[in-house]
Amino acid sequence: MDFPILEMNLGAIEHNARTMRQLLGSMGIKITGVAKGTLANPNVVKAMILGGIDSLGDSRLDNLAAIRACGFKGERVLLRSPSPSVIPKVIELSHVSLNSSPKTVELLGKAATAAGIIHKVILMVDLGDRREGVLPEDAVRVGKAMSSVKGIILHGVGTNLACLGGVIPTEKKMLELLDIKQSLEKELRYPIDVVSGGNSANIGMAMEGEMPKGVNNLRIGEGILLGTEAVKREPISGCSQDTFKVAAEVVEVSVKPSMPSGDIGQNAFGVVPKAVDRGPRRRAICAIGRQDADPEGLTPLDDGIEVVGASSDHLILDIEDKGDRISVGSVLWFRPNYSSLLQASTSPFVQKVVKR
Ligand SMILES: *Cc1c(COP(=O)(O)O)cnc(C)c1O
Repeated sequence: MDFPILEMNLGAIEHNARTMRQLLGSMGIKITGVAKGTLANPNVVKAMILGGIDSLGDSRLDNLAAIRACGFKGERVLLRSPSPSVIPKVIELSHVSLNSSPKTVELLGKAATAAGIIHKVILMVDLGDRREGVLPEDAVRVGKAMSSVKGIILHGVGTNLACLGGVIPTEKKMLELLDIKQSLEKELRYPIDVVSGGNSANIGMAMEGEMPKGVNNLRIGEGILLGTEAVKREPISGCSQDTFKVAAEVVEVSVKPSMPSGDIGQNAFGVVPKAVDRGPRRRAICAIGRQDADPEGLTPLDDGIEVVGASSDHLILDIEDKGDRISVGSVLWFRPNYSSLLQASTSPFVQKVVKR
């Protein structure tokens, strides 16, 4: 077996998909499943489908193509604002896209009309996170303009929080979005189907019973993939956190001083490291690095192992407490966080295996 490995527990992912669907479904919230943290791995996509997910979203067109290639017959949603240079592909690969630029929606409308179809648009509103979306005061005007484009139907309003600015989704933010939806409906004189309140950062508030009625969609990746919500990274009750594991092989074990020796400048990544002097410690080096998985996001599954640091190809561990139980050739296991999962999934150096 070639290491490093990303091991996928498909049963646990399917279980999480089903659990999240039931949990949010009981609140009138439909899930758009998001597998981009795994590069839309076909096994993971199929596990989500088996778990009852019937709408799948992704930020990348290649991933939407992979989802289609899985034989998925449900709704495909493009999560990132479409790039103007690839509009015909957007129309071909997605039924719905999230948009904030009227110019882009004009282009989508032309391409949809040429293809003889209607493309659904969700108008994104920036409720404070300062990533994508029109400002609330512009939403009705822009939404009205988008809805008048031939080939386009204004299918919903949406927002995305907790991504750039770290703004926490609250009942107040959701009510703001519902207000915008109502003003738009008044202006348009037809009902807007979807209010898409956010991502896995909304799970906590929904579970606390703070999701106002009317928010009827969430786009969920992390909740299904890792079984955690995305504000405090707390486990979701009933969900499994045993979904993905990363394994790497030990290539050096030695007792070394914990302090570097010599004049200290920048390391390979432009950081001047500050070591803590703990005296000589037993250390292991694993053959996994920043090219494979974000080392800050790897938690050793064995008690008594601490991550000291990492460079492109090496992960340095303190294994003092493990005595001589770890040697060259040992395989160590880690739990990846979202960022580490994303990187392991997109790295060509990491083997993807299914847990049997
Ligand atoms: C990635 C993404 C999501 C899913 O985020 P999670 O935190 O993994 O649930 C939702 N919405 C948009 C716009 C995204 O890009």
